[in-house]
Amino acid sequence: MKNLWSEREAAKAKDKLDLLVYRSRLIGSEPELCVWGGGNTSTKTSQLDHLGRMRRVLLIKGSGSDLKSSVRRDYPPVALDDLLETFKRERMSDDEMVDFVSRCLLDPKAPRPSIEVLLHAFVDYPDIDHTHADAILSITNTPNGRRHAREIYGEELLWVPYVKPGFTLAKWVGEAYRKNPHVKGVILEKHGLITWGPDARTSYSRTIEMVTRAERHLARARKRKHWSAPLYKALPAAERRAWLLRFLPVVRREVSANQKVVLHHESGSEVMDFAGAKDTVRISQKGPATPDHMLRTRRVPLYVKVAARGGAGQLTEASFSRQIAAYAEAHKRYFLKYRHLLPGGTAQMLDPFPKVILVPGVGMITTGSDLKNARIVAEIYEHSIAIMKNASALERYESLSEKLAFEMDYWPLELYKLSLAPPEAELSRRIGLVTGAARGIGKASALCLAKAGAHVFLADIHFKGACEAACEINEVVKAKRAFALEMDVTRPASVAGAFEEVVTALGGLDFLVSNAGWAHVSSIENLKDEDWERSMAVNARGHFLAAREAVRIMKRQKLGGAIVFIASKNVPAPGRDFGAYSAAKAAQTQLARILAIENGEAGIRVNVINPDGVFEDSGLWETIGPERAKSHGIDPAKLKDYYKDRNLMKTPVRAWDVAEAVLFLISGRSAKTTGCILPVDGGLREAFPR
Ligand code: ZN
Repeated sequence: MKNLWSEREAAKAKDKLDLLVYRSRLIGSEPELCVWGGGNTSTKTSQLDHLGRMRRVLLIKGSGSDLKSSVRRDYPPVALDDLLETFKRERMSDDEMVDFVSRCLLDPKAPRPSIEVLLHAFVDYPDIDHTHADAILSITNTPNGRRHAREIYGEELLWVPYVKPGFTLAKWVGEAYRKNPHVKGVILEKHGLITWGPDARTSYSRTIEMVTRAERHLARARKRKHWSAPLYKALPAAERRAWLLRFLPVVRREVSANQKVVLHHESGSEVMDFAGAKDTVRISQKGPATPDHMLRTRRVPLYVKVAARGGAGQLTEASFSRQIAAYAEAHKRYFLKYRHLLPGGTAQMLDPFPKVILVPGVGMITTGSDLKNARIVAEIYEHSIAIMKNASALERYESLSEKLAFEMDYWPLELYKLSLAPPEAELSRRIGLVTGAARGIGKASALCLAKAGAHVFLADIHFKGACEAACEINEVVKAKRAFALEMDVTRPASVAGAFEEVVTALGGLDFLVSNAGWAHVSSIENLKDEDWERSMAVNARGHFLAAREAVRIMKRQKLGGAIVFIASKNVPAPGRDFGAYSAAKAAQTQLARILAIENGEAGIRVNVINPDGVFEDSGLWETIGPERAKSHGIDPAKLKDYYKDRNLMKTPVRAWDVAEAVLFLISGRSAKTTGCILPVDGGLREAFPR
């Protein structure tokens, strides 16, 4: 492992906190040292308290923040001498410890310090780094981990047997350090590595050095012994895609029984190799590589059993569903068996469904409240895989017993990290597609839905425009939840292909905003065949094709759904020279009603919005505006005013007004509304739905 320390960068630090942030980011930038949110670092210094007294303080990473992106405020100052008072104690409960530490904070509003705060206090060295490095865990998670560690490090590192983090672990490490003050750090069995030093650089460099030595030892072991023989071949790419299209909506349904999740699929060579190996069925069920991984991956993954012949290709939906249900049942039994270990025995059972699903020949499916979280789970489990393989090469992979794992799995102090996530938005966990989303009403709707927390695919015949719109939205919502797709709504293959992208990317579909439209101005006697056909193709067939795909996915997924058609005020109140447009929009409206009738029982709601002319950012009005003015017998420059003045409220209709109506009809706020037409037109008497 490369030592990334740069004296030039370090020299920019204006105080010890800056240097701590610099060092922590170096550690966080190396995924083989610590996974998202894992690890902690500290430095000891002096600082004035609220009464102007100079105090010795420990600056330590706050619980739940991520080293890689950490900033100064992520390191609360804690009164070191107060913390050291606890070293005299024989025991201290978790609640006592949390309460005590919170009273030692110099700033009461600072984040809660890492649960390993006492450990950092009990070792006198000024700088301490704690990581859950893959290479170290590959050594500690074997039956003879202690012997291997001694072989590699001799007397340089101390071995500390496994105990749950908290006061006892801190006390053990503190006592071991006092007996051997010259060691460079400790190895925590089935947990990780701690290094320390007289300064930031030494502590960091020792972490890198110790991990590198472990890596070399493992490389030699891998040469001697190969990882388990492959049992299942990877499905060819086309078959794998077909498999995902068929099964992901089923998986999403089964694992969303308590709350909806989005799915992520990984098929990198290491993952495929692991999922298809003979020993994986056994090794993957042993338990977590470190408690730190378990917080997000849960104790064990679901390993999907497939037929020896034919592999995943022969799997049936019923068998897959049964295996997911059996996993959840097993979790329930595990919870009931060990629940008495929890303080007060009052804890709620966590979501019992798997976070990681291994499918031989297909790869790994992970679940999360959003794509970012599903990806974090995948990333973490990839490190678990590396550890399991390395430990198997060295000797044999071992993990915590089921009971010890449960203690960490349901440990309130560890679960606290998850509670720091921002509150979920109204449409979080939802996946949808908006057609004609590069501009105008489509783009505004996509933004409105993404702001409400949804994952939104922006489909448009103008792919570049859709990409730009998706980028803009991601910048506004400060997350990657908008995605661009190329889609010609008049072509069945293009429509089906776009929906396939949605399913393979996130596992399913919750809503469709069918918006793409095309307008043409002409009296019927002068209307050309091709213009009539074009209007019917975009404004009627396009909605049919998109809705058909959406309903097919939603019905397989069995989680209900919402579809909104953007029709027009012209349906109830047609205008002259607008026959091709109005007739096609009327067909679209009737189509929506039939969809509502046919799919109500499946919980799929279908509603229609009738906007009046929206001018802003509209490709449609740029082309037909002058001609519509002519039909109305007015000056084209006055067209906007004409539309504004003709409604009861004398107000222009904007894309955002329509987007708000879309949000209402997609969200649970309209849970009992289907087959409905909602005008967004400022009030037009002749267009009142009746
Ligand atoms: Zn740890």
